[in-house]
Amino acid sequence: MSPLKYLAGYSPHLQMRVQELIAQGRLGTLLAEKYGQPHGVRNDGQLYDYVQALKERHLKKSAPLGKVIYDARLQVMKHALGTHTTISRVQGSRLKASREIRIASVFREAPAEFLRTIVVHELAHLKEAEHNKAFYQLCTHIEPDYHQLEFDLRLYLTQLELEQAEQARPGGIR
Ligand SMILES: [Zn+2]
Repeated sequence: MSPLKYLAGYSPHLQMRVQELIAQGRLGTLLAEKYGQPHGVRNDGQLYDYVQALKERHLKKSAPLGKVIYDARLQVMKHALGTHTTISRVQGSRLKASREIRIASVFREAPAEFLRTIVVHELAHLKEAEHNKAFYQLCTHIEPDYHQLEFDLRLYLTQLELEQAEQARPGGIR
């Protein structure tokens, strides 16, 4: 059994339950039943509007957004569910922070709830750099069901990798 890299932070008991679902071939079906809804955020312009609308609603006072884009080079895991960079630019005599949000392009095809989850995560990073208590409080302030959603998102990414590995295997599903 390969370790569940997306679920490394969760309890061994929970990880075992997930391994069982995978072994029974039920993980994909369960996720599809719970999260069947696609979203219409197809390009960077639409993504910007989507992020901006959530920010307006929940984090009005934080620094203005900079660039918001889908990034095909982003690896979800390596960048801890998306990336967030603060680019400081000197503008005249003032130092102005510009906030850039990049979302891994795997989320373009993901169910609507998971795009929302990753955007909430990245928005919370506008105020909290670390994954600390204040950070998760902010996440649940924007999205009360955040913890469940992040867990299910990790299940989704796990399932996606299993399917990709299956397709890459000689004689696998094509
Ligand atoms: Zn993060």
